[in-house]
Amino acid sequence: MSARPNGWSCRVARQPPGSARGLQHSTPSHLPPYHSVMTTTPAHDIAHRLAAVRQRIRTAEASYGRQPGSVALLAVSKRQPVEALRAALAEGQQAFGENYLQEGAEKREALADTPIEWHFVGAIQSNKTRAVAEGFDWVHTVDRLKIARRLSEQRPADRPPLQCCLQVNVSGEASKSGAGPEQVHELAHAIAELPHLTLRGLMTLPEAVTDFDAQRAAFRRLRELQAGLVDGGLRLDTLSMGMSNDLEAAVAEGATMVRLGTAVFGPRPEKTP
Ligand SMILES: *Cc1c(COP(=O)(O)O)cnc(C)c1O
Repeated sequence: MSARPNGWSCRVARQPPGSARGLQHSTPSHLPPYHSVMTTTPAHDIAHRLAAVRQRIRTAEASYGRQPGSVALLAVSKRQPVEALRAALAEGQQAFGENYLQEGAEKREALADTPIEWHFVGAIQSNKTRAVAEGFDWVHTVDRLKIARRLSEQRPADRPPLQCCLQVNVSGEASKSGAGPEQVHELAHAIAELPHLTLRGLMTLPEAVTDFDAQRAAFRRLRELQAGLVDGGLRLDTLSMGMSNDLEAAVAEGATMVRLGTAVFGPRPEKTP
């Protein structure tokens, strides 16, 4: 991950209040609600946050015996304005995660001149698979074979295979999406056969808990499931786990991609009704 030479030196002077309003004033009023919210994080704050996040990841790698650079950062930019993505991109961040299809499509269009790698991390309805298959490079939230088949069928022939993770519900909450741990073996092997998808590994979004050992226990389950699949002959290299509040526990248990929103961009603008 390339930081700009001065990206971490925090030399950007704190701007007087109001000077960052360019972000807000540059937001045209015809854009959808997430653009029009007035509380977004100024670009120089995003640069500092990103530097701090990178340091947090490096520190966690060192603390838990992980190779330096073995944990990639996915910047989850849902409900953040295009300017926020540009600010992170200017600091060398290339992988962005989006949760909503309409919002994702608008951002891809606005940022078509950039080398962003787009990841879909939202829930997938089966009648919305085409937008994921056509618009994204990665999808982290595949949890049914029906969805995986549609994504593979709808992936445009001129694009590389859609990179995907199988989402697993490790904490067993009825409300969370994700395949049950007992389904993982059969599902992963079936998905791995699909021609226009590449199964890269497993993803989880566990129950939010603050206890570090409880956080680790959930991530450990995902790591063990992945190890079982690798033993069974699948070539997987991605464990998508860890968010702003549990990144250290995830890195301790083998995360290779952490999905951070708030830590990178600050609080998400409220959705307007
Ligand atoms: C929003 C979101 C994140 C980022 O959450 P933060 O707590 O803001 O870091 C990560 N993964 C998924 C699937 C999300 O929806």
